[in-house]
Amino acid sequence: MVKSLDAMSPARLKGVGPALEKKLAAIGITSIQDLLFHLPLRYEDRTRVTLAARARVGEYMQFEGEITSCELQFGKRRSLRCSLRDSSGSMTLRFFHFSAAQKESLAVGTQLRVYGEVKHGRAGFELFHPEYKPLSQVSQEPSDTLTPIYPTTEGLMQPRLRSIIGQAVDLVVGNEAIEDYLPREIVAKFNLASLTDAIRHIHRPPANAFGGWDREAPNPGRDRLAFEELLTHRLSLRRLRDDAAAQTAPQFAGENQLIRGFLSTLPFELTGGQRRAFAEISDDLSRPTPMLRLLQGDVGSGKTVVAALSALRAIDAGYQVALMAPTEILAEQHAVNFRQWFEPLGIEVGWHSGKQKGKSRAEQLERVASGDCQILVGTHALFQGEVHYAKLGLIIIDEQHRFGVQQRLALREKAASMHINPHQLVMTATPIPRTLAMSAYADLDNSIIDELPPGRTPVNTLIVSNERRGEVIERIAAACENRSQAYWVCTLIDESEVLQCQAAEVTAQQLAEQLPQVRVGLVHGRMKPSEKAEVMARFKAAEIDLLVATTVIEVGVDVPNSSLMVIENPERLGLAQLHQLRGRVGRGSIKSHCILLYQSPLSRNGKERLGVMRESNDGFYIAEKDLELRGPGQVLGTAQTGLMEFRIADLVRDAAMLDEVKDAADHVLSQHPQVVDSLVRRWLGENIHYANV
Ligand code: ADP
Ligand code: MG
Repeated sequence: MVKSLDAMSPARLKGVGPALEKKLAAIGITSIQDLLFHLPLRYEDRTRVTLAARARVGEYMQFEGEITSCELQFGKRRSLRCSLRDSSGSMTLRFFHFSAAQKESLAVGTQLRVYGEVKHGRAGFELFHPEYKPLSQVSQEPSDTLTPIYPTTEGLMQPRLRSIIGQAVDLVVGNEAIEDYLPREIVAKFNLASLTDAIRHIHRPPANAFGGWDREAPNPGRDRLAFEELLTHRLSLRRLRDDAAAQTAPQFAGENQLIRGFLSTLPFELTGGQRRAFAEISDDLSRPTPMLRLLQGDVGSGKTVVAALSALRAIDAGYQVALMAPTEILAEQHAVNFRQWFEPLGIEVGWHSGKQKGKSRAEQLERVASGDCQILVGTHALFQGEVHYAKLGLIIIDEQHRFGVQQRLALREKAASMHINPHQLVMTATPIPRTLAMSAYADLDNSIIDELPPGRTPVNTLIVSNERRGEVIERIAAACENRSQAYWVCTLIDESEVLQCQAAEVTAQQLAEQLPQVRVGLVHGRMKPSEKAEVMARFKAAEIDLLVATTVIEVGVDVPNSSLMVIENPERLGLAQLHQLRGRVGRGSIKSHCILLYQSPLSRNGKERLGVMRESNDGFYIAEKDLELRGPGQVLGTAQTGLMEFRIADLVRDAAMLDEVKDAADHVLSQHPQVVDSLVRRWLGENIHYANV
């Protein structure tokens, strides 16, 4: 039997001793397989030597020539300036940091090969701090493949890592077995390159691959690996779901007293979209396996009502519900809503957060433990050790893009440790692009509320430079004179809450001075909950005309009489967040406007992004655009990027692959389940740990 490289230690390679082994382990490399799947970040083209006369500014290029002068310069900064001449002309090499030995090695008459970025200098082309080597020390012919640049760690130099990975690639090229876990029929069906070819290609691309490498151009080696990576990712999430499906959860069936009662108090009819979503959820809740469902819908589509209906199913069956929001403010808002809805039905709504102290905290926890409290609303504190539920049946997570796979896992683990398998409903604040839903959320089923309640008028969005702030303020005066209300949203780049709140305070003061006839209110995240609630109530009662706020109002403010929103520095926010904010106006029948008041000049990307906001009111479309323009890490939010940092796959570039990957995953799970572990080990390594849920 051929020994596979999967588990073979890197120590087998030349020059890898215990010290190096340790460094490799620090970047997650403990086997030859890990070396092979340690993929380049980018490439450098050192396949050609360019003549000095052909240098192009802004490109990384390689030159060979003789040093014709080398002198110290004393300007603003001391530097070493050398001239390098070849048959076509000469260029300048400039060093700001250099040792005596380096200076020595650049003596006049030395023949050098140099590599670096070409810049415009005072006397022609210049290279700053190029890599260089005396010609006597380099092999005569330049490399015929591109030079890979790998992610590395301190104390492990690029050339060293490159040489070790090179040895591993030699083993594969020399026909040592690297196990291909992809079933043959999948490789054939999707016309994928062989694993050996793909590995060779990714580590040693031919010179002509350059330019097509990380772009849209087809690239069989890269595509094969990206496919395998996406497949593995999906398999790992699918397995989580299958694990859950093997557990028993409480079944909520029968009478729906509370639901009928609740519906009769609502001042509106459910939309078709809400009905469909709730029917799907209801169906899950009546089964003996835990629901894992994502509820998506555009801003204002009425997800909260669907969450409330779901909660009532559990409560009606005698179970408790935990409703978790990512921030204190959002959680408070939910608590207010649910109290209003549920207390008339005789349901006890509790509140629990990290900040809650003393007696009320202890009392609250007691009522949860006894089962008296039927629905507990709060932050992630809901699942800290001290909270004991009498009979938890349903967890609802309002996630705002901040609650990733890892957290979902941890939550399931926690639930398992409490010996319960509650149902789970995850709500998103705004729609998630399809590609992300198919990858980051592949462990969940999906319900979509695909329509808005009737009677909403689309918001008209304007993009205005801060230089026209005066006109914008006049516009507010006009709107308020018309008995309409307005928001002014202050944002800051570094998201420091303190600074944001200060900015809002200053803005509120200025606006109050500039608009003496307008009643200005202020709400921000550092105010006490009771103060916030009071301001909001006064705004709702139309005792405040203009509400100056931080992004706090992103969450659940509902004042249909407000028809104008000004958002400062919108270029700094994600499109999903802007869309979420804008969703606060246009709730009534009056025509509403949203003014994006940007700081000029606006970058090209900024222009494009704000343009999307002007063009569209469709959260699903905006989410796709946001992904395209900002990438998955940004769109998902920091807490979640870990799992979305693919080594080679790119959700935007490879979007078209996802349907194939989905089919392939189904096939692997049903026909070749034994390869899942090996694939997960190869691509996700120790990164992901599976809870024994
Ligand atoms: P989101 O999906 O953004 O969380 P909400 O649940 O906050 O939306 O609902 C937005 C507003 O629409 C709320 O004021 C809610 O009461 C109202 N609403 C919800 N469903 C309906 C409906 N079917 N008809 C009319 N208004 C509705
Ligand atoms: Mg909501």
